Amino acid sequence: MTAAIIDGKAFAAGLRARIATEVEALARRGIKPGLAVVLVGEDPASQVYVRSKGRMTVEVGMASFEHRLPDTTPEDELLALIARLNADPAVNGILVQLPLPRHMDEAAVINAIAPEKDVDGFHILNVGLLATGQKAMVPCTPLGCLMLLRDRLGDLAGKRAVVIGRSNIVGKPMAQLLLRDSATVTVAHSRTADLPALCREADILVAAVGRAEFVKGDWIKPGATVIDVGINRTEAGLVGDVDFASALPVAGAITPVPGGVGPMTIACLLANTLTATARANGLTDPEGLTP
Ligand code: NDP
Repeated sequence: MTAAIIDGKAFAAGLRARIATEVEALARRGIKPGLAVVLVGEDPASQVYVRSKGRMTVEVGMASFEHRLPDTTPEDELLALIARLNADPAVNGILVQLPLPRHMDEAAVINAIAPEKDVDGFHILNVGLLATGQKAMVPCTPLGCLMLLRDRLGDLAGKRAVVIGRSNIVGKPMAQLLLRDSATVTVAHSRTADLPALCREADILVAAVGRAEFVKGDWIKPGATVIDVGINRTEAGLVGDVDFASALPVAGAITPVPGGVGPMTIACLLANTLTATARANGLTDPEGLTP
């Protein structure tokens, strides 16, 4: 048996096409969603992300506003920019690209974004809303993983899920989303005892570790659905957190790296911007883009 490959690239393209159709419908009402992306400093990976975010925002018919600030920018100036974007009716979504330069307080900056425009879902209010099962802005990467899982498995109720990683960006919100769908969720991390045995119990295994090819094929329950969030740059190119070659004969389905979770993240950023725009205009949430 060989695992089915979960084609995140194709799924994300379909999602963006649907978003573009919704954006056209909004245009007929005189509404144009706008996404502002703020980049502080010159981090090369961040520059690449910001460029592709801007390009895809425009491709789906939304307005893209890019703000690039030098890495010596005082925090006050960044906060003043966020305050202007919060007040700007043309801006429905605000994303501050992380990581920020070391002299800035990341939590203070994120929590200065108006929660209803926080399309990354990192604001403390959105974290709380998600944790309590209320209408929130949901972090893009785990939202993308959830969409792929539902598409593959349908109802997740009663499935055993193991999430490796407890970051605020991926692991914790992923666990919240799976729990919300009534999976039985375990969150593993660097202090977890006998991780391979734990993973072998999982019908759904999400790896968000940041270590190249960390999860081996013999950690995987035969037939399990494996979502590989990892993006690791190695001499051999981009690889995930799962050892793809040894996982392939065991898993039921698996996301490749690249072409799995990665493309879903930007598509879900656009989905969140659309949702934020609908909410700002008193419209119902677009179908299937929220948990
Ligand atoms: P973090 O470094 O913030 O978190 C990594 C987590 O993995 C931590 O909770 C850590 O545990 C855990 N961990 C580390 N080593 C081990 C170990 N030996 N055994 C078990 N658990 C371990 O990373 P992120 O969550 O931000 O990102 C994870 C990966 O996902 C990275 O490769 C990143 O590049 C990728 N990523 C991909 C995105 C996409 O769009 N596809 C978006 C965001 C991230 P502890 O808490 O105990 O330290």
